[in-house]
Amino acid sequence: MQSGDFENLKSEFISGYYSKGYSKQAKILMDAGNKAYSYLIDFFQKKPQIELFVLDGDDWEKLKLPQKYEHGPFFISYNTLYKVYYPSNVPKFWRNGLFTLCNAAPQELKDEFLSTIKYEDRDFKSSFLQNFDLNLFSLTIVHEFTHVFCETNHIIPQIVSDSVFYSLDLAWFTEFFCQYAFYSFLKKNFDEYAKNWFLIGKLCYEGGKPLVRYTDLQHFGEHYKDIVMMSGGTNLFWYQFGKFMLMAEELCRKYGENFLKKTIDKMEYKEEKFVNTLQQSLPNFQSWFQKWK
Ligand SMILES: [Zn+2]
Repeated sequence: MQSGDFENLKSEFISGYYSKGYSKQAKILMDAGNKAYSYLIDFFQKKPQIELFVLDGDDWEKLKLPQKYEHGPFFISYNTLYKVYYPSNVPKFWRNGLFTLCNAAPQELKDEFLSTIKYEDRDFKSSFLQNFDLNLFSLTIVHEFTHVFCETNHIIPQIVSDSVFYSLDLAWFTEFFCQYAFYSFLKKNFDEYAKNWFLIGKLCYEGGKPLVRYTDLQHFGEHYKDIVMMSGGTNLFWYQFGKFMLMAEELCRKYGENFLKKTIDKMEYKEEKFVNTLQQSLPNFQSWFQKWK
């Protein structure tokens, strides 16, 4: 099955392909994708080429993608060409997983959430599920694209291989950084959605804390496999949309976009930076390098 089997959408920054009958959903995701891309190019030097696929369950199966439809979204890289896959609707797995965590939150937080979102329905469950629509979900594309931009620009180790990622005590930072970019993007472009996602974050964090097994940052890499597999992935949702979201909101109030700029600048894998860093501890390293380079 090739790109030609799908409907095609061209846009300023990305190419889109979608399953027949899903043009409405594809437009929502393409729109979010274009906004995400135009936000991220201000921070990064190299621009990846991105193809966005918005697929129904059948096409997802036919392509034999490495993740289940309900698990999506994810990306695959081919040097600087990236394919980002999104399910054509909000996965039930996400809605239900997040609902389970949020539903266990204290009542005053649930009331705060209900008074903020636009739905009339006062029942928490139906309001929560209605609120979690494709418009809200589509914005998570900023997170996926941030991974892609970091990888293209050699910034922060991405999930290159399981064995490397799982042994990194800094593994949490890779995901946290993408959530930070996601939140910072929302603050700049869609304040209503920033509030909405932040409230979900508070519900998820407070409600989920007694329900999940792992809560420390260092456990995120060490037990990543468990975190993804256990109880329908709820521990992963708790980290990503609970803990990391709250951490991002707090740091974003202090540093805003400067955190993105500084991290990208300081954490880029570049020879010059590497040599300068070593020179600080090894006085003759720089001259040795000049001789042999
Ligand atoms: Zn991620």
